[in-house]
Amino acid sequence: MAAAPPPSAVPTAPAPVPSPTRLLDVRTVYAEPAALDSARGREVLARFPGAEVVEVSSHWKIPELHGNEGNVDRWVRVKTETLVLGVKKSLTARANGRSADWIAPSTANGCAMACAYCYVPRQKGYANPITVFTNIEQITGYLRRHVARQGVKAEPDQVDPVSWVYDIGENSDCSVDALVSDNVADLVATFRGLPTAKASFATKYVNRQLLDLDPQGRTRIRFSLMPDADSRVVDVRTSRVAERIDAVDDFVEAGYEVHLNLSPVVLREGWEADWAQLLRQLDDTLSPAAKAQAAAEVILLTHNRDLHQVNLGWHPKAEDLLWRPDLQQPKRSQNGQWNVRYRNDVKRAGVDRLRALVAAHAPWLRIRYAF
Ligand code: SF4
Repeated sequence: MAAAPPPSAVPTAPAPVPSPTRLLDVRTVYAEPAALDSARGREVLARFPGAEVVEVSSHWKIPELHGNEGNVDRWVRVKTETLVLGVKKSLTARANGRSADWIAPSTANGCAMACAYCYVPRQKGYANPITVFTNIEQITGYLRRHVARQGVKAEPDQVDPVSWVYDIGENSDCSVDALVSDNVADLVATFRGLPTAKASFATKYVNRQLLDLDPQGRTRIRFSLMPDADSRVVDVRTSRVAERIDAVDDFVEAGYEVHLNLSPVVLREGWEADWAQLLRQLDDTLSPAAKAQAAAEVILLTHNRDLHQVNLGWHPKAEDLLWRPDLQQPKRSQNGQWNVRYRNDVKRAGVDRLRALVAAHAPWLRIRYAF
């Protein structure tokens, strides 16, 4: 049902209206009534005053967003022109132990970018545009209580020697989410006041507005990196790799901890030379301060059979890199999907080789984990 925003949706003070970017030019906002009626929902709508608001009973049930598999023009248009506002119902933090100690409840899901290997679940069709959860105070309140219950971290682990680390961006890219709402700003502010914990998120987008959030060391940004030659094929709509590298020093100076995700590592002819070049670029570019605090995750590509089929319809060149049955084996994932990943022997050799490249070209870069 199409509806104009209710009178209560008009904020008293004008919110900053971002000019349309390449990534977002929002024309339609699907919204649950409770989300429309919330302060955060009203703020988001005020950022996109020209958008038509369409009320939906549940942010999970929006049939218009489905059925765009393999139609990349339509898919990118949906990502650019559509937002969803919802209320996050179940609030739980899940134990993790790799990127973070805990996965925080999401404050958004979906993404305006379109990486060919993206593993973020596509619950709103293949376009999967950004959904903003508007009950941010409930979510930050839950996080404060969860952090308090953990007490002080008793023993260092690979995630962090001292702090409990909460991944706040499992289902989205927080740098882009911050173009849409103040949820990320509120999370950074929440963790600024939690001396036993840190927020953390991986990103492929450089949003310099985040430099003003004063994280005071309590938020860790993990810039994802891969050789530019791969990224230009598979990282669709993201910031270029050189721009991400150039941003590292600025984010360190602004009070973020900045780690690097060397991921996904795509094995193909010439991969070692290109990764060596990327590591030398890091060594040449990063300041001593950035190097002193840096650490990395190394993650070899995992792909997916269904995604492979969809990608063949719009981006077969990406599949030349990602789909390598000669090197890969199927693996049933926790959610029952058939993933493919490099065979154990191939993967072990790849991880060993990448570790050796880091030791040779960026010896200051501690590897937190590699798999
Ligand atoms: S930036 Fe992350 S969430 Fe967005 S499409 Fe790429 S992999 Fe998926």
